[in-house]
Amino acid sequence: MDHFLYRDGQLFAEDVPVAEIAAQVGTPFYLYSLNTLLRHFTLFDEALSWGPHLVCYAMKAASNQAILTALGKAGAGMDVVSGGEYARAKAAGVPGERIVFSGVGKTKEEIRLALEGGIRQFNVESEPEMRAISEVAQSMGVEVPVAIRVNPDVDAKTHAKIATGKSENKFGIPIARAKEVYAEAAALPGLKVVGIDVHIGSQLTQLEPFEQAYRKVAELTEVLRAEGHEITRLDLGGGLGIPYARSNEAPPLPSDYGQLIQRTVGHLGCEIEIEPGRLIAGNSGLLVSKVIYLKNGEGRDFLILDAAMNDLIRPAMYDAHHEIIPVMESEVATELAPYDIVGPVCESGDTFAKGRLMPPLKAGDLVAFRSAGAYGAVMSSEYNTRPLVPEVLAKEVQFAVIRARPTYEDIINRDTVPEWL
Ligand SMILES: *Cc1c(COP(=O)(O)O)cnc(C)c1O
Repeated sequence: MDHFLYRDGQLFAEDVPVAEIAAQVGTPFYLYSLNTLLRHFTLFDEALSWGPHLVCYAMKAASNQAILTALGKAGAGMDVVSGGEYARAKAAGVPGERIVFSGVGKTKEEIRLALEGGIRQFNVESEPEMRAISEVAQSMGVEVPVAIRVNPDVDAKTHAKIATGKSENKFGIPIARAKEVYAEAAALPGLKVVGIDVHIGSQLTQLEPFEQAYRKVAELTEVLRAEGHEITRLDLGGGLGIPYARSNEAPPLPSDYGQLIQRTVGHLGCEIEIEPGRLIAGNSGLLVSKVIYLKNGEGRDFLILDAAMNDLIRPAMYDAHHEIIPVMESEVATELAPYDIVGPVCESGDTFAKGRLMPPLKAGDLVAFRSAGAYGAVMSSEYNTRPLVPEVLAKEVQFAVIRARPTYEDIINRDTVPEWL
């Protein structure tokens, strides 16, 4: 469920007409609905209400300060994967005790930054990293909670670029070696072993891979406890998928996911952490764009938009499907026709959809990409010196630009030409 609905034939973001925002902000731009974001967070929070838990929003999905501030105020924790994300979370007012630090290559500078500012736990991804955290913590005279990310060797049945739980992936330590690695962690100064961490991939559309992974985590918890480790927290990662295409079967609901967690690990009495990103932000955001030209090609017609792969890279990078809908519904029932929907960038990869059935559109018409809130704006760039795409947040009748479009001058002035040229 989201708050992007048609009223009298025109698309609204909550209670604001999308066309009105486009007229003020210009296109292309990302448009988020605050109440959709908060609703998705609440669904997860309620799904785990059977026990102690913390929903740590995986902020790499959409990390605008306004989004972080809203979720932080609602009580969300944050899952960060870089020093930059840590700094963003803190700047948004999220206390250190609600921030978990994940990621395969934390540098000593990033570790120090988090220890200085406060951190709930590090999710450790390798033995060298574990030793680095120990070293930095010891040098600062502190002890920091850690969970070790295990790789359960489970097939997440998702796109290869976002599967992370198979033994050939770079993530975590093999679950078979966990006993040994936990023993070393317990012996290292500056570390307090508190839990187990797992994250098997993104855009999972079935519960079964989660079930396999979580059963392995439950087993491991018993094994480690028998070895004398106090396992009090389980971080079960993110990854629950969203429906990108209307024709697809809807992925499992957060409530079913919460029940699965209770069924597989609930008996262990641990505090549960989860790290959803996509499901919180994905359907909370649109990318709004304008048709520049309608071009009739040989055997195919092209809709050339003012948004491009630099603004939304998911189709080029992951072969991702996004529903593309008109902002104004046509008044008469018209026949749909196939279009190749493309951006203006000089690469054939700058194609959003091929042969997509669309109502008749003409130059100047607005369209919206649905499900663009996650891994959209955060992956945008200024390739082709196309100004970084702005972001807008709507709440009921209000909206605000939460990241402004830079001017050409802003872009040019970011570079420095050396005097000696
Ligand atoms: C990317 C990532 C997530 C979030 O995944 P979603 O599919 O967006 O829910 C959570 N945890 C870790 C460690 C990640 O790398």
